[in-house]
Amino acid sequence: MRIGNISVLTPLGEEKYFGGTLTIEARDKELMVINTLAEESYLFSVVAHELPKDWPREAVRAQCVTSRTYMENNLGRHKKEGFDFCDLAHCQVFKGNPSNFLALEKVLRETPPFVLSFEGKNAEVFFHSTCGGHTSNNEDVWPAHQPIPYLRGQPDGQGSPHCRHSPFFSWTVRKTKAEMVQVLPSEKRKETVEDIRILKKDTSGRVKRIFIQCGPQKIEMSGDEFYLAWGRTLGWHELKSTLFEVNQDERGFVFKGRGLGHGVGLCQWGARNLAEKGYGFREILSFYFPKTVLMKSCRP
Ligand SMILES: [Zn+2]
Ligand SMILES: [Zn+2]
Repeated sequence: MRIGNISVLTPLGEEKYFGGTLTIEARDKELMVINTLAEESYLFSVVAHELPKDWPREAVRAQCVTSRTYMENNLGRHKKEGFDFCDLAHCQVFKGNPSNFLALEKVLRETPPFVLSFEGKNAEVFFHSTCGGHTSNNEDVWPAHQPIPYLRGQPDGQGSPHCRHSPFFSWTVRKTKAEMVQVLPSEKRKETVEDIRILKKDTSGRVKRIFIQCGPQKIEMSGDEFYLAWGRTLGWHELKSTLFEVNQDERGFVFKGRGLGHGVGLCQWGARNLAEKGYGFREILSFYFPKTVLMKSCRP
């Protein structure tokens, strides 16, 4: 099936599809591949990467408006390197046109070209897979941020959370005392970790400070440092968020957590549930970004 005019076979044998043009340049002993395409095509590709093809239309639209706002706010982020966006999550994951692209394209084309705005300017927007029952304050996740009025942590619905059907809503990971040593900086590693305790949580219940005892060493880290250290050493898909509890049993440590991602802004699995209940994208967006309004994009 053709999904764009360029097909690329990666060294891993995966076929990827791109629209627009591809330029390949040699830079500092590396090859730099730049895909040039219409803004709208880029937007549809990043949304298609985020959501499976069978997601309800209004959830896809809510993601499309959120991603369009994010795209406009970050255009030119990599200007010095000669392109607008890289393919990583901080710029929105871009992998060309994924296999569900054609299935979602019609819904995306029919989504009005809105952005979210606050006090006449594009709003700062974020999204994540599953909040786990409570979204986050932006400044709790990114301490350099000022608190933003429409990015306040809130329960994801009254009673049972909107994202409760997510496969990531709750999870458990077990690690032995020896395995947990990996998470520590190399100069602090002893044979086993004796104790792990949560010292402080933010208002959404996410871990702010955590204490680890390894041999005679007592180490404190922020929840985020712990999450990143775990990802780098033990892998990225086990500890899915900083919304967790930790307990010890005879085999080691048991981490019981909820959600996937940082919890700021739009909860994708919550949006899916709201769409299935009949809410429109406008209502979904005003739930996750209260006080913002939809505005027609000023981009051509
Ligand atoms: Zn980037
Ligand atoms: Zn949620």
